Amino acid sequence: MADALYPQLPSVDRLLQDAAVTPLVSQYGQRLTADAARALLSDARAHIAAHNALPGWTNDWPAALQQTLAERSASKLKTVFNLTGVVLHTNLGRAQLADDAIEAVARVMREPVTLEYDLNEAQRGHRDDTIADLLREITGAEACCIVNNNAAAVLLMFAALADGKEAIASRGELIEIGGAFRIPDVMRQAGCTLVEVGTTNRTHLADYRNAITERTALLVKVHTSNYRIEGFTSAVSEAELATLGRETGVPVVSDLGSGALIDMSACGLPFETMPQQILADGVDLVSFSGDKLLGGPQAGIIVGRANAIARVQKHPLKRALRCDKMTLAALEATLRLYLRYSQPHDQLPLRLPTLRYLTRPHSDIAQTAERLLPECRKVYGDSFHIDSVACLSQIGSGALPMNTLPSQALTFTARDGRGRTMEALASHWHAQPKPILGRIADNRLWLDLRCLDDESELLAALRAASEASWAGDGTK
Ligand SMILES: *Cc1c(COP(=O)(O)O)cnc(C)c1O
Repeated sequence: MADALYPQLPSVDRLLQDAAVTPLVSQYGQRLTADAARALLSDARAHIAAHNALPGWTNDWPAALQQTLAERSASKLKTVFNLTGVVLHTNLGRAQLADDAIEAVARVMREPVTLEYDLNEAQRGHRDDTIADLLREITGAEACCIVNNNAAAVLLMFAALADGKEAIASRGELIEIGGAFRIPDVMRQAGCTLVEVGTTNRTHLADYRNAITERTALLVKVHTSNYRIEGFTSAVSEAELATLGRETGVPVVSDLGSGALIDMSACGLPFETMPQQILADGVDLVSFSGDKLLGGPQAGIIVGRANAIARVQKHPLKRALRCDKMTLAALEATLRLYLRYSQPHDQLPLRLPTLRYLTRPHSDIAQTAERLLPECRKVYGDSFHIDSVACLSQIGSGALPMNTLPSQALTFTARDGRGRTMEALASHWHAQPKPILGRIADNRLWLDLRCLDDESELLAALRAASEASWAGDGTK
């Protein structure tokens, strides 16, 4: 019987000449369309072998081809609904850029720009000069160096200032952050020898002082952003370390991690150390990320004294780690927002998405939940108990996990009480054209609404998802 079915399948050539398929060939090209046709034919043959029947979609080959081509041509970098409750989610690309930054990037991509071209001097300019004045204004730094990310910034500071020498750091600050970034390993890669001082919970200024020898090139302070040691503790401040550095002639650097450019506590958020404070304390160099609390593109920003920055800029690694024009344009536009709108503080969140999400009031998020709740119950109520529940969002990107923000979520619990049904719903939402990402905890699937921009878009996506059949849906 199957033998009678195979001859009913069209050939690739015949398919490509079908009048309904020629528009697909113009849109996707001969090669991709032929590949998709071959893949569909092989699916159809497998179906016949297994079921002794033609698959239903062979009734409409052009439609099946269209769908296959659309799926295969969609970018692997999908935009998603981030309802995970983590605002700066490293795996979701951290900060969403401000419109100004997006426009700036598009502009410099399209045309030649004065990236390293000094129009006044008719000689080679320096790419980091694009934002040097802005960083000087905002942080009080004498100079800056911009690299690919903060991990690169830390590596470069160590390499430029302490290669072949010793760098002193506290045992309480030898951090690991995500992606195998560990301070001792980074120092080794930079060619410097780590001299550990103090203990896990207590380090004193005398510990640093006693460790200084003629081989010492650097005193290092690392912001322990993602954990906290509580109880009988003591750490040396940047100001104390800077004083010791001046007395002994040893440069002091600080890896600040997130580094907020404005006082977060004035926005009702947990306080985060600002690079301008660390510089005012007398530290020579401080580094921080562009795409954490700053809310800009991925970048590592080093600011500080002109002589130390000059050594960093001259190091060969700088050439390997430098930023391109897109990053610099986005960073410039983002920093301009800080200059223009950071006073009063309530203006900046209107322009900077990261700050908007972080400062979004709980009452506002709860109202969104109230509006969405009845609609979600209409669509998913048969299979799930759905509630609006208070929850806690996280800042993310190495900010303290304990520093949470009061938020509101829609929660989904399977009526059949099975965890697997809930997991099936989560996977089904992951498989949507714009995946809907929540988190599973306490036998519920949580959609934290803090970072939701467009309620009707989410609702449309939830409805579309409910119409497609899925593993946990017994009704379809
Ligand atoms: C996040 C972080 C880094 C790494 O920064 P990236 O921009 O992710 O490379 C380094 N140090 C600290 C303390 C951090 O918090």
